[in-house]
Amino acid sequence: MGSNQLLDHFGRFHDYLRISLTDSCNFRCFYCMPDGPTNCLSSGHLMNPDEILHFAKIFTNLGVSKIRLTGGEPLVRKEFPLILKKLSSLPVELTLTTNGVFLDKQLDLIKDCGVKSINISLDSLNPDTFFKITKRDDFHRVMDNIQLLVDSDLHVKVNAVAVSGLIESELADFIEFTRQRPLHVRFIEFMPFDGNKWSSNKVITAGQMLKLVQSVYDVVKLNDEPHSTAKKFKVVGYEGTFAFITTMSEHFCGDCNRLRITADGKLKNCLFGKEEWDLLAAHRRGEDILPLLVQGVRSKFEKLGGQLNPDYQKISIENINNRSMIKIGG
Ligand code: SAM
Ligand code: SF4
Repeated sequence: MGSNQLLDHFGRFHDYLRISLTDSCNFRCFYCMPDGPTNCLSSGHLMNPDEILHFAKIFTNLGVSKIRLTGGEPLVRKEFPLILKKLSSLPVELTLTTNGVFLDKQLDLIKDCGVKSINISLDSLNPDTFFKITKRDDFHRVMDNIQLLVDSDLHVKVNAVAVSGLIESELADFIEFTRQRPLHVRFIEFMPFDGNKWSSNKVITAGQMLKLVQSVYDVVKLNDEPHSTAKKFKVVGYEGTFAFITTMSEHFCGDCNRLRITADGKLKNCLFGKEEWDLLAAHRRGEDILPLLVQGVRSKFEKLGGQLNPDYQKISIENINNRSMIKIGG
C-alpha cells in the first residue's frame, strides 16, 4: 500500500484513478449526454498532455496502481496518442473505456503502450436500437472492433447500460454473445446524472435481470475480484462471462478505491458527489496540488456521494446536484 494521503476517513485506500480526457463525444447516448447544445470545453480549459502526466505521476507516487482513460470519448481527443505514450512511462496498469468506433485506428499504439484490457460500451446488439440510443450509425464499426480486440488477445469487457424497457429483450442476445467469445459483458444499472431523464421506473435491477437469464440458462456464480464493481456469472459451457454492476440496487461504496479527474482538471472523490477540487487551477497558479488532493480524499462521504438515497426508488433526480455523466467521465 502507498502513503496515507490516499486514505479516507473510512479506511479506504484509493489506488485507482480515472482520468477524463475530454467532455466531447462522437455519440449522443441519451443516458449520458443531455439534449441541446453540447457546450464542450475549449482546449485551453482541458488538461494538456503534460498536465495530465504531471497529475498522474503525483497520484502514482502516492500509490495509485491503475489508471483508466475515459471521457466523453477518449479517442476523439486529438492528443490521445501523445497522452497514452506519456502515461505508459509510469509504473501503472493502463486501461481505457471507449465507445469503440476509432479503436482500429489506435490499436497498434494501444498495444505498444502496454494496455492489456479495454472496456467497450455497447448497449444493444440490434443496429436500430443502437441508433436510437447513440443517434449514430456506427453499430458495425463497433462490432468489428470488438472482434478485432478479441482476435488481438486483449481482455475485453462490454458495458451495456441496462434501461428498463430496452434491455429485457436483449439479455439473451448478449448472453449468446459470450457463447464463443472470451469476452465479458457487464450490465450496468441505469444511474441518475444531470440531464439524463433518469427515473426509478427506468431502472431494472441486477436481481430482475438475473431471474430473466436464469429462466433460460444454466448459470454459475464466479468469484469477484477485489474492489470489483461487478458481480460475475457464467453460463455453463460458454467461453465468456456476464456480470451486473449494481450501483442502484446494492451499492459497493464500502470497498471503493476510485478517484476521478475531470477533463478540466477537477478532482471528484465520488461519481455521485457534487464536490470538486480544482487541481488544474491550483497547478496553473504554480501551487502544489497535494493539499487539495488530500482534502478531496479526506472529504469523501461514506456512500453515494452523500446525496443519493441507497433505496433508489426514493431518489428524485431534481434533488441531485452533479454534472452530467459526459462531463464527469464514467
Ligand atoms: N465514451 C466512452 C464510453 O462510452 O465507453 C467513455 C465514457 S462513458 C461516460 C463511460 C461509461 O459510462 C460507459 O460505459 C457508459 O455506458 C456509462 N454510462 C454513461 N451514462 C450512464 C448512466 N446514466 N448509467 C450507467 N452507466 C452510464
Ligand atoms: Fe459518448 Fe460514452 Fe457518453 Fe455515449 S456513453 S455519449 S459514447 S461518452
